[in-house]
Amino acid sequence: MIAIDVDCHPAEIKNRCEKMRILVIGSGGREHALIWALRRNATQPLELFCAPGNAGIGELANCVPIGVNDIPALLCFSERTRIDLNIVGPEAPLAAGIVDEFEKRGLRIVGPGREAAQLESSKAFAKDFMSRHSIPTALYRIASSAGEAIEILQSDEFGGQSAPVVVKADGLAAGKGVIVANSRAEAIKAVEDLIGGAVNSEATRRIIIEEALAGREVSLLLFSDGKDFRLMPASRDHKRVGENDTGPNTGGMGSITDADILDDATRDRIVREVVEPTLQGARDEGFPFRGVLFVGLMLTPDGPRLLEYNVRFGDPETQAIMVRLKSDLAGIFQAISETRLGELKIDWSDESSACVVLAARGYPTKPEIGSVIGGLALVEQSEDVAVFHAATARGLNGEWLTAGGRVLGVTAKGETLDLALSRCYGAIANIHWDGMRYRRDIGRPSAPGSAPGA
Ligand code: AMP
Repeated sequence: MIAIDVDCHPAEIKNRCEKMRILVIGSGGREHALIWALRRNATQPLELFCAPGNAGIGELANCVPIGVNDIPALLCFSERTRIDLNIVGPEAPLAAGIVDEFEKRGLRIVGPGREAAQLESSKAFAKDFMSRHSIPTALYRIASSAGEAIEILQSDEFGGQSAPVVVKADGLAAGKGVIVANSRAEAIKAVEDLIGGAVNSEATRRIIIEEALAGREVSLLLFSDGKDFRLMPASRDHKRVGENDTGPNTGGMGSITDADILDDATRDRIVREVVEPTLQGARDEGFPFRGVLFVGLMLTPDGPRLLEYNVRFGDPETQAIMVRLKSDLAGIFQAISETRLGELKIDWSDESSACVVLAARGYPTKPEIGSVIGGLALVEQSEDVAVFHAATARGLNGEWLTAGGRVLGVTAKGETLDLALSRCYGAIANIHWDGMRYRRDIGRPSAPGSAPGA
């Protein structure tokens, strides 16, 4: 981390003024991938900052030790450092209204305001929004107490007592708020566990009970300036910690992009039935969506169904997506902030890509940290592979150390998905630390409907 001196020499200020200054807020592999892409495709000189960042990000940007939820400190830093454009990675500051606060002070920031961020921060809000705008989704009921949720589960709504059903906490729950239960008894236990403290009480003030859908999942991310939108390549992630989608849910153990994930006709249907009504609905309700929208879908035999919105880049989808971006990312963010996205053509390589997450022993419950990571220097020499750091630190002698559960995202593209994956796994063979864990089946489809995530 470096301290930023804003009272610098006039010549330095002039030099700095010619550069576009961008602050990326966040500290994970997603933010590393964004900063990497900003640099790689830049058509103008950039000066990059990241708050708080991590040791890997520190190789490409100035890391400033401000937490993502410390909105007053972020505001103050952005103002004093004369940041031209602020980019928000994670959902919590968006839900807390960081965009509204920055805009009130006349600062440019890319992301949805607090109202639009409710599409992610409240599942009840999102489901009612989908229903108001006739967006296809699973049937649902919103319960305002555990008792009411259990009553719904004891009834025969959503099928009989042995039918699978989904229980969701309303609020942000860091991946712990969704349980796909195989029976009503399991669902009732899920409600009791949620209320019993698995998730914070604010997030469980309301509980959503939902019909369980079966099919393959796909994630579609898009840029939107409130008026126009541009799709990114469709992606898929792997949420469970273990191979064959076993074990607890995680933030994501890997992701891919590939033409086979989504055919053109289905993509067009999703645009017509989900993306356009969402963006139009947001405009009609007075909160035009600006930023990155993520729609998580289930491709069912009856057509695509929307499972969830995220109001920001996904992690690790972003890593796999960014290695395919050929256009200037700073230019895209600028166009969003100036409502000029409609003028922009965004180019993507027509390859496939993959990101394999290397995690620490004990992840996701109690990851070990502080292990020395070997082999990174060798892998970084490879043109074909990008290693995005999710949680690393530097030791006293400059060695790389693990600093969290998800540590690295080894990412590559290739003419085929197999080639992208073999590049990732080839690179991984050179990386090691005591307790390193990863899934060897990234990119391999799981049985439809067998991969409940969160
Ligand atoms: P959500 O945060 O609502 O997207 O839920 C997280 C994960 O739970 C999804 O990626 C799905 O794997 C699973 N899930 C959510 N809703 C349903 C549903 N109605 N039917 C089946 N699986 C679901």
